[in-house]
Amino acid sequence: MTETTEARTRDDVRRLDREDPLAGFRERFLPIEDARVVAYLDGNSLGRPPSATLRRMHELVTREWGTGMIRSWERGWLDMPERVGDRLGSVCLGAAPGQVIVADSTTVCLYKALRAAVALRPGRTELVTDTDNFPTDRYLVAGVAEELGLTVRWIEPDPRLGVTVEQLAEVVGEATAVVTLSHVSYRSAYIADMAAITELAHAAGALVVWDLCHSAGVVPVRLDATGADFAVGCTYKFLNAGPGAPAFFHVRAEHQRRFSQPVSGWMGARDIFAMAPRFEPAEGIRRALSGTPSVLGMVGVEQGVEMLAEAGLDRVRAKSTALTRLAIELSDRWLAPLGLSVASPREDELRGGHVTVAHPRAAEISGALIDAGVIVDFRTPDGIRIGLSPLSTGFAELWRAIERSREVASGLLG
Ligand SMILES: *Cc1c(COP(=O)(O)O)cnc(C)c1O
Repeated sequence: MTETTEARTRDDVRRLDREDPLAGFRERFLPIEDARVVAYLDGNSLGRPPSATLRRMHELVTREWGTGMIRSWERGWLDMPERVGDRLGSVCLGAAPGQVIVADSTTVCLYKALRAAVALRPGRTELVTDTDNFPTDRYLVAGVAEELGLTVRWIEPDPRLGVTVEQLAEVVGEATAVVTLSHVSYRSAYIADMAAITELAHAAGALVVWDLCHSAGVVPVRLDATGADFAVGCTYKFLNAGPGAPAFFHVRAEHQRRFSQPVSGWMGARDIFAMAPRFEPAEGIRRALSGTPSVLGMVGVEQGVEMLAEAGLDRVRAKSTALTRLAIELSDRWLAPLGLSVASPREDELRGGHVTVAHPRAAEISGALIDAGVIVDFRTPDGIRIGLSPLSTGFAELWRAIERSREVASGLLG
């Protein structure tokens, strides 16, 4: 539902912070020790560090690594990819245990997922994605097509929205092996209709690989309920797991006995210490692994997930919606008169965790905003992304940021 509100005042916004059931989480991040920062609005690119992660990292390095040394692999490190994956699956992704593993980067997981999905649809010759998908996704789809002699069918979505069911219906058919899309657009924050798109692809006999980078930890995902086949995503954005923290890889239970992935390393083998002459895949999701998992990185994922579990994803989504709604309201009021226009869906149910405002001079404006302490990011060609992390962003912080943005933009453009 999109609420229409009277123009809100600074006091209204202070009240939003007072009444925010998640307000206490803001103190659980390390402080930003830079007095020039007015607001951090880029948690959708790199979430801030939870204090608990620093404590847990210290304990890991001193006790588990320093004292436990190699023995710690047997004392909990080896099964971390599944253990943390299961937790992530149940807290954020609507996936029952045994279907999610933490590994690699999103790029590598997506490559593995695409190859695995294509291999399950032999004889089919087409891959479907969209021209506005994240670069790594587009490059991988083109690369896999070239590698396997397949054709890519490109959907061209409205950049202020994203791929619709109607657009998919025009390209999907009996030649389609795999459809791969982002659940939430990195550009506009548009939320694709996961249930309807998956159903349509399945009706054509195709499989779907979802990229959940901009949903995981902010928009509740229902992988089991929607029938999604494969999914991958980042943990360093709304999951606050830290720069370069490992990604996650989901394989629907029904595909697990048959799927194979191309990076068949020893960590995905049935018995990793058998040192067998030939690769034999592990039962279940573990065969999605390739090499030694990053324990340091998984610790960050674990802390991020536990914080979200405590907050509750429904409350996170409710605050996210309230924050993006306020960002739109203030942008309309203060930035639209300067020529900056909202380029994200106005309907709450179609909008993920950020708001993009567009202007032909967006690159220059973003640079000036960052210099003025409003940390946003620029996405070519004309988007300024306002990323809102429900656990670490406050309503008054957002108000100050847009107020400051108006001063900066009017100085530049006025
Ligand atoms: C952030 C992001 C990625 C990043 O992939 P990495 O392998 O972690 O660099 C991929 N896809 C989407 C949609 C993203 O938003």
